[in-house]
Amino acid sequence: MTAPRLEIDLGKIHHNARTLVGQLAGRDISITGVTKAALGSPEIAGAMLRAGVSALGDSRIENLKAMRLARVPAPMTLIRTPMLSQADQVVAHADLSFNTELDVISKLSSAAQKARRTHGIVLMVELGDLREGIMPGHLENTVRQTLRFPNIVLKGIGTNLACRSGVSPDTRNMAELSALAESIDVIFGPMLDIVSGGNSASLQWALSGADTGRINNLRLGESLLLGCEPLHRQPIEGLYTDAITLIAEVIESKVKPSQPWGKIAQTAFGEKPPATVRGRIAQTILAIGQQDTDPCGLHPPPGIEILGASSDHLIVDSGGCHLPVGSEIAFQLNYSALLRAMTSPFVAKVMKVSAETATRRKAGDHDRRPGRTRRAPRHGRSESDRNPPPAHP
Ligand SMILES: *Cc1c(COP(=O)(O)O)cnc(C)c1O
Repeated sequence: MTAPRLEIDLGKIHHNARTLVGQLAGRDISITGVTKAALGSPEIAGAMLRAGVSALGDSRIENLKAMRLARVPAPMTLIRTPMLSQADQVVAHADLSFNTELDVISKLSSAAQKARRTHGIVLMVELGDLREGIMPGHLENTVRQTLRFPNIVLKGIGTNLACRSGVSPDTRNMAELSALAESIDVIFGPMLDIVSGGNSASLQWALSGADTGRINNLRLGESLLLGCEPLHRQPIEGLYTDAITLIAEVIESKVKPSQPWGKIAQTAFGEKPPATVRGRIAQTILAIGQQDTDPCGLHPPPGIEILGASSDHLIVDSGGCHLPVGSEIAFQLNYSALLRAMTSPFVAKVMKVSAETATRRKAGDHDRRPGRTRRAPRHGRSESDRNPPPAHP
């Protein structure tokens, strides 16, 4: 089979989405399924929709357009503030966009008039993570201005946390978002359908039993795809963490010294050369590298340790095990590795629906075939332990 490839189990993604849709419905919170780490895949979007997500969100208009062209039947939200230069496309392919700049809303209004459509706006509020958002003190004025634009409908407000600075959603900042929604309703009359309380990092808060106030929507990507929450990157109980695996093929398998020899300068990516001193090792090279994924975000199966990576080579110590040329290794991925693999033209995407998801099983008692292991059991320290995955954008 072609390698490298992502094996994407739509059944497991469906299970993850269905589980969270059910849990959040109990708190009157809908889910916007975020497809940006899926490169707007219509198959993955379909699995999310069948599970009951109420809309789809993506940060790239190109992905929304691709899903529209594939006739994915869902309201489409652009979850990054639009570029002025893309206003026409945004109006054409998105029902709703997240906004923080009046200049952009003005341009969207002109584009919507030209296209004889209306375009929905969610105003994003800054609550401390210091990425996108209107400062809370400026929200009232921005709402007032937004309401004046023809062919623009103010649909809601939202916030995004835990991305740039790792600020956690908690009772204080979530209550602040609720209070802002209340005050807009008091001043301008009830008009906010959507109060969007954040991404997968808001799940813990939303399911904690805390008062959810006016918040009625979350935008979930990582939790649906990887079954994991982004604050501490812990598996979420009852979800599959192995819905997506990355398969790479062995192209060299030799016993070599663990230490390089000769005069040492910089490596291809400017990192330090390997520091491992462990005598001779079973050094195996896989045909995958920086062009295909984020090597720091790969979790190898037990007994295999990642030693380094360059553009096209991943070097591992396969321990006591000889991995013949042509054999395949399956890795688990973090968000960063997934995003890069999904967007790499060198990585094939293979969709499957596992039979085991037909019967509901608890995550944790499945899929333990060698090379297809879940994240938890690992021998030795891997690259990903030394380099904790960065907060994703
Ligand atoms: C990426 C993104 C999300 C989804 O985040 P996850 O942590 O993957 O759930 C939600 N909202 C915005 C604005 C985003 O950019």
